Amino acid sequence: MNKKHTDLIDFDKKHVWHPYTSMSNPLPSYLVESAKGVYIKLATGEELVDGMSSWWSVLHGYNHPKLNQALIEQTQKMAHVMFGGLTHEPAINLCKKLIDITPEPLQKVFLSDSGSVSVEVAIKMSLQYWHSQGKSEKHKLLTVKNGYHGDTFAAMSVCDPVNGMHQIFESVLMKNIFAPAPQSDFYQPWDNTELATLTALFAQHHNDIAAFIIEPIVQGAGGMRFYHPQYLKACRALCTQYQVLFIVDEIATGLGRTGKMFACHWADISPDIMCLGKTLTGGYMTLAATLCTQEIAKTISDGEAGCFMHGPTFMANPLACAVANASLDLLATGEWQQQVSFIEDYLTRHLLALNQHSRVKNARVLGGIGVVETKVAVNMAKIQKRFVELGVWIRPFGKLIYIMPPFISDERALATLVKAISTVLDEQQCFED
Ligand SMILES: *Cc1c(COP(=O)(O)O)cnc(C)c1O
Repeated sequence: MNKKHTDLIDFDKKHVWHPYTSMSNPLPSYLVESAKGVYIKLATGEELVDGMSSWWSVLHGYNHPKLNQALIEQTQKMAHVMFGGLTHEPAINLCKKLIDITPEPLQKVFLSDSGSVSVEVAIKMSLQYWHSQGKSEKHKLLTVKNGYHGDTFAAMSVCDPVNGMHQIFESVLMKNIFAPAPQSDFYQPWDNTELATLTALFAQHHNDIAAFIIEPIVQGAGGMRFYHPQYLKACRALCTQYQVLFIVDEIATGLGRTGKMFACHWADISPDIMCLGKTLTGGYMTLAATLCTQEIAKTISDGEAGCFMHGPTFMANPLACAVANASLDLLATGEWQQQVSFIEDYLTRHLLALNQHSRVKNARVLGGIGVVETKVAVNMAKIQKRFVELGVWIRPFGKLIYIMPPFISDERALATLVKAISTVLDEQQCFED
């Protein structure tokens, strides 16, 4: 590393927060110079195969000519205008596309800045929906344990209470209701006895519950678990039966990652409200959407406030919408289906073999997601360093080494990722304190 790079890293270490990272005793951050296709290039010259898609978001690879072009063209027209009283083609086209590809009852689109905000919006929509009907007592949320829905307050209040460290914010956090995490595995026979507790919670609390929120099929940050589509179907049925709005958080799973355009499609269900984020701009910039039904939008709009009480400054940012449109156009070619099944086939053949490894509790694959759950937690500093030495960017947490590489990953990239995982599993140093 040259002087300039060391200075940058030093400043970063002293002054810049990183996600869920100590400022007193930070693990190293690696300085990135550029990224292209499936490769992240470090300032030190190494090119790493990206196994993370920058937290699910990069679908078509970095530095994609079509996405770059969309951004450049839009920049030359306008980077931004306010959305109050003004509108524009990039936003209109994006909303049209989202309505086309999502389940039919979802007809109204609220654009916002990030996944967490789209969850806030979904929660506010459901509270305002009941308030508009004089049912303000329906103000709680029902969800399942092991969930993750973002870091803002309402979103945090439906994250797993233990992983989400609820006790720190206890005095201000909404008190919501938690059902056990879904148990039946995606690939195992469905066991409907697990619905007993969930059903009892609906029966007991439905008069207080505005909405039920869940990540469909894949519980992401809360444990990388794949659960049975019948569970999701049952959630839909219970919400209908007990007059509770059904919010599905497709922020990580939406737009192809699980092998279906939306994870909802595995259960053939439609929610009342859907959140999209992470994947929406193909990993270029932050943008999120909350879609809802005609009935929800009408009820809110005809209620006391006369409108939905939300409006971010950068709502429908034209640059973000333009790049989202370009990303959705790439998805519209349908090529993602072969790409995701190629990843799934490769990981099924090679990553599942790690189930034999003595350090592995369980290896699993769904669509473009591969997970190796280890018996003991990884040593983050050591494993991260080893992954970089092995030419990959994989960022595990706890006992989870997981990958969701960009859809464009070829056999060579996937082989490098799997080889790196199998290599670190053989190294004692990556698993000791
Ligand atoms: C990442 C994530 C969020 C939060 O999105 P941000 O853009 O980080 O605010 C919410 N829900 C799920 C399922 C996520 O994976």
